[in-house]
Parts: sequence; C-alpha cells; structure tokens
Amino acid sequence: MLIKRVLIVGGGTSGWMTAAALSNKFGASGMSIRLVESADIGTVGVGEATVPHIRHYNATLGFDEAEFMTRTKGTFKLGIEFRNWGRVGDSYIHPFGVFGAEIGGVPFHHHWLRMHARGEGGAFEDYSLPIQAARRDRFIHPNQDPRSLLNTFNYAYQFDASLYAKFLREYAEARGVVRQEGKVVDVALHSETGFVTSVTLESGEVVEADLFIDCSGFRGLLIEQALKTGYEQWSHWLPCDRAIAMPCDNVGPTMPLTRATAQKSGWVWKIPLQHRTGNGHVYSSGFIEDDAALDVLLGEIAAPPLADPNKLRFVTGKRKKQWVGNVVALGLASGFLEPLESTSIHLIQLGIGRLLDLFPAQEWDPTDADEFNRLMALEYERVRDFIILHYHATERDDSEFWNYCRTMTVPDSVAWKMELFRERGVVVNYRDGMFLEPSWLAVYLGQRVHPRHPDPLGDKVSDDEVIAMMAAMRGRYTQAAEAMPTHETVLAQLAARAA
Ligand code: FAD
Repeated sequence: MLIKRVLIVGGGTSGWMTAAALSNKFGASGMSIRLVESADIGTVGVGEATVPHIRHYNATLGFDEAEFMTRTKGTFKLGIEFRNWGRVGDSYIHPFGVFGAEIGGVPFHHHWLRMHARGEGGAFEDYSLPIQAARRDRFIHPNQDPRSLLNTFNYAYQFDASLYAKFLREYAEARGVVRQEGKVVDVALHSETGFVTSVTLESGEVVEADLFIDCSGFRGLLIEQALKTGYEQWSHWLPCDRAIAMPCDNVGPTMPLTRATAQKSGWVWKIPLQHRTGNGHVYSSGFIEDDAALDVLLGEIAAPPLADPNKLRFVTGKRKKQWVGNVVALGLASGFLEPLESTSIHLIQLGIGRLLDLFPAQEWDPTDADEFNRLMALEYERVRDFIILHYHATERDDSEFWNYCRTMTVPDSVAWKMELFRERGVVVNYRDGMFLEPSWLAVYLGQRVHPRHPDPLGDKVSDDEVIAMMAAMRGRYTQAAEAMPTHETVLAQLAARAA
C-alpha cells in the first residue's frame, strides 16, 4: 500500500513542479498532498532557462504549449552561446542537436577535424541546424521524420520562473493539492526511527505526514537543518559562489538562446523572455568584490534595469544524501551546481521522476532511498563534470580567476575524458543521461580542445569526396535555417493561438 499523506515544504519551482507531478499521478487516489510555503521568505527568484527534457515533463502533465508559453512569457531556446570562454573574443554555441552526419561510418567530427587541419570545411558550427537558426534569430519546431534536417535538433524554453510556479500551482490545486501559507518553525523527529513526524508552523499548527519533500531552497530545512545530512562541497572545482540578478527591458530581436559571457571572475547570463530580459552575474567572491561584480553586470545590461539587484550566495555541491528516512530533498535543498548549463530545473525533474519510480510504500524499504541516492549522485556528478570542462578548458590567462580554473586539478572523471578526446577525438559517452556526444564536442571544439590524432578510419574516404559531401551538407543547413520563420513570428503565432 502506498503511503497516504505527503507534505511538500516550499513553493518555489521545485515545490510546485513536485506538487503538479504528484497530483497528476496520485490526485485521484485519495492521497493527501499538501504544500506549505511562506510568502515572507519568498523564493530564490531566478531560474529561467531550461534544457529540452522539460518538454517531457510538460507533456506528461498534458500542458498545451501555446498556453504554457503565453502564461509564462516563454521563449524558445536552441542552445547556449558561450562568449569569451576559450579566449576573449571567441563565441560558440552549445546546441540542442547534432553536428553533421557520419561519412563512411565514421563520426562527422573526425572528418571535420581532418579537413579543418587542411584549412577546408568551414566552421564546425556550420554543420548544426539549431546553431544556424539561432545565429539568425530563427526558430521552427523540429519534426519526427528521420530523413529531414528538422529531425536533427531539439529545443527547450526560457520562462518567467514565478509565472511557471503560478501555472503549476493552478494545475496542482485543480487536482486536489492543498496549499497552506505559513512558516515552518519546528520539525519533530521520531525518537527511534529518526523519521520526521510533523512540522510546526509559526501559527502553532502542527502538520503531520508520512512522506516529507524538502523543497525549502538553499536552507534545506528538513534534510539539513533537521536531519544534519551533510553537504559535499565542490567549490574547489566550481569556484563561483555568488550571483547578482537584474532584469531589464528587451532590446533588439528575441534570441532563441541563452547567452553566457565569460568575465574576469565569472560570467554574465542573458536570457530573453517575451516581456523582459533576465541578466545576472555569477562570480567567485574569492576573486572579485560584490560592488565590482555589480558594476560588471551593469556594464553588460543593454537597457535600464527593471528591478533592484537580487543578490544570492551559494556553495556548489550536493547533499551527501538526498533521500534520508522519510525526507526527499529536491531543488536547491538537494544541492546546486551553478546555472551555467541551466541544469537545476532538470535535476528537479529527474528527482521527481526517480521518486515516482521508487515511490514509498507504507512498509518503508531503505533500498528505495539507496537507489534514489545512487541515481541522483550519478546525475549530479555528470552535470558537475560537464560544467567543470567549461572552466578548465580555457586558454585565458588574463585574471587570477582564469589562472586558477585553467590550472586546477579536475576530478579524474574529467581528466580522463579530456585526455581521451585530446588523444584521438573520442568522446566518452554515457548510454543515457543529460550531456551526450554533441554537447561535449561543442564545448571541446568551442574552447579549442583539439585532438592530436583524428580517428584514422576517416582516411578511408578520399579527401575530395569528403570535401564535396561537407560542402553539400553546409549548403543544406544554411538553406534550412534561412527558410525558417523568425523566432518572434513563431511566438506571435503561438500567442494568437492561445488567445
Ligand atoms: P526556492 O525558489 O528558494 O523556494 C524555496 C521555497 O521554500 C519558497 O517557497 C520558500 O518560501 C519556502 N520556504 C523556505 N523556508 C521555509 C519555511 N521555514 N517555512 C515555509 N516555507 C519555507 N535553474 C535552471 O534550471 N535554470 C537557470 O537558468 C537557473 N538559473 C539560476 C541562477 C542562479 C543565480 C541561481 C542561484 C539558481 C538558478 N537556477 C537555475 C536554479 C533555480 O533557481 C532553482 O533550481 C529553482 O528555482 C528551484 O528552487 P527551489 O524551489 O528549490 O527553491
């Protein structure tokens, strides 16, 4: 028998994503799902860019895309543009899509590398349709026809996080979730099992449950403050520990991508939404003062700010365990890897998916928690490694921050992957997971990590043939991108559909 009462503590993106997903799955089962949040404390107020997997979450809940985009002031995202990461003046895009197509059974990048060494073949990004579209501020939905170039990419969203939470809340409340305003001031533990039995609100009300989901943000009210789970810090590899966020008006065409521009002690994000542009400076307090960091951000903002700076502090890493006893931590309560690859909401989604797969029965079995913790640790570590690559694979030597990142000792799992790529262009692939071969290729080549020896198998097709095939491919990508409507046209069409 499934447990009967669930209490979600926290009403940010993680709390409402969890509430919506649980109500979708269990709303009709009679399970009591409650969410307590405190308007006084509020939410973190950032978290606008996503990765394509969110489409699956939205689809599972049955959201209509036009309605969702209109309600959350959303835009489409084809990837992330990284400026000044390998060297000052560089720009590359990590797209949600593949590069080129195999030739003679050999992955495309080996051919490109061979031709590139001869001064042929153009830029690597010429072989990516989402990049070609994004560079032109164009967008079209992909299709499912395997013969079509429109089947070579995926897309995500950029949205107003507070509007998304509101949208999710309506959905969840319509399916029986009970929201309670209030501040949790105490957490009671069972004297023998150590399980959480109840939380006490400032009003004095005691709320009991069988399963508690800690979505309380960085403070980790249950998982850390009550259960003292411990935190695995990764700040020696991911040294940014502060951020200042500040939205401004939109200027120019709405980009179908997020931009991450490296600075001397961190990087600045730019996330275009329908009604405003989100901006923020993520930086390391060990290398720059807060006032100077704010000046950097103001220097990058294209229009007058729409709000006061939102100053945030964080420590990169994760809880040693994310499911302990009858408490499951999701969102910032479970850990934070900094927002460079927009992975936090995805990790919430993964956590929800794993929780639903391993949903506890009334007879608690610790194996469920062990498996949840194993899977989430793996995902966190994979994302961590990919983000570390961005900082470490640089030639920048113009600041102490970059000197640190360039020369730091990285985890073995990153060092090994980089060495294999440097040796012969092999990308260590996971069977499944978040960042697969095209992502690693985009960052390696975008940040000037080139193999010493491209795969010799590529030589079995003659250079002339490869050059001709690559030229034809390039032409097709350019043509397909030129034929797409502008991103703004697609957004206007969606808005008209939703009206
Ligand atoms: P919060 O938003 O902090 O919500 C916590 C909730 O708990 C609130 O409702 C609060 O009121 C409640 N609460 C806390 N204490 C109590 C209490 N005592 N009693 C009652 N209620 C309580 N993620 C992405 O995927 N993409 C991005 O682009 C991105 N950018 C980011 C940029 C920065 C600088 C940072 C710091 C994070 C970013 N993130 C991003 C992460 C993203 O913001 C979070 O994953 C997401 O907002 C979920 O946060 P949360 O719901 O876990 O926590």
